[in-house]
Amino acid sequence: MGRKGILIVISGPSGAGKGTVNRALLSLLSDLSYSISATTRLPRNGETNGVNYYFVTGEKFQEMIAADKLLEWAKVYDNYYGTPRQAVEKMLEEGRDVVLEIDIQGALQVKEKYPDAVLIFIAPPSPAELERRLRRRGADAPQEIEKRLRSAAAEMSLAGRYDYVVVNDEVERAVSKICSIITAEKCRSQYYLNKSGGLNESTNS
Ligand code: 5GP
Repeated sequence: MGRKGILIVISGPSGAGKGTVNRALLSLLSDLSYSISATTRLPRNGETNGVNYYFVTGEKFQEMIAADKLLEWAKVYDNYYGTPRQAVEKMLEEGRDVVLEIDIQGALQVKEKYPDAVLIFIAPPSPAELERRLRRRGADAPQEIEKRLRSAAAEMSLAGRYDYVVVNDEVERAVSKICSIITAEKCRSQYYLNKSGGLNESTNS
């Protein structure tokens, strides 16, 4: 039986480029899987149920909480978001690495339950650049953008709760830093030592 996969949590303010970075990571790393969250938010243009999110009703979401089907969940900008537990546990068990793209409330819940989870905070190069990206994206109504900008300042002040901070000035550079983090995490001695502190036979190649 091989070893379990690692759980990677990516957060950062809306507009920091988490989605773009994530997609690039997933296309580069074949051992990496994305956990599709459940949300009560309505789909945006171009979003598909079961691909971007599982779009569910408030009632269904509450049922999932009650049945302990969510590994973590949080209310973000008036909607509920949560990570389906079973799918993540199965992938980790099979040795696949899993990336969660979730908010800070969720990230801290994950760290409580999985202390070995690797928390990565994606930061924009500057507040001005963040605002430019949000407006350019054109996905949200103006008042929604204002709300997201206000939250961004609060979120940035919590970056210290993460294991790593990656500034997304350029997608390729950010992705390459995250690949380095994942490589380093996989080389941690804890994964290779036997009970007497010597090396197991497995390698980290
Ligand atoms: P959006 O509505 O822009 O897709 O996502 C809004 C926020 O919800 C983002 O910060 C995103 O990372 C977060 N989010 C997405 N899925 C989850 C989840 O499963 N759990 C938590 N806690 N946050 C999530």
